Amino acid sequence: MPTYAYRCAACGHAFDIHQSFSDDALTVCPECGGPLRKQYGSVGVTFKGSGFYRTDSRGGSSSTTSSAPAASTSAKKTA
Ligand SMILES: [Zn+2]
Repeated sequence: MPTYAYRCAACGHAFDIHQSFSDDALTVCPECGGPLRKQYGSVGVTFKGSGFYRTDSRGGSSSTTSSAPAASTSAKKTA
């Protein structure tokens, strides 16, 4: 279940909440009733996902390390 971080625009109250995608997004601050804003930057799940993707495709296999110099050499030749 993804974790959403919310922050109240009125009082600044910030909190994380576990919600499924089908759940309605929170819009009202539980502290003061002010408008809530979803904070995507502090959600670890989404960030981790894209970060892992990059690292995985680059250094996933150990053979990539030895083939990397050769690849750049042939690239130079081609270009
Ligand atoms: Zn509030």
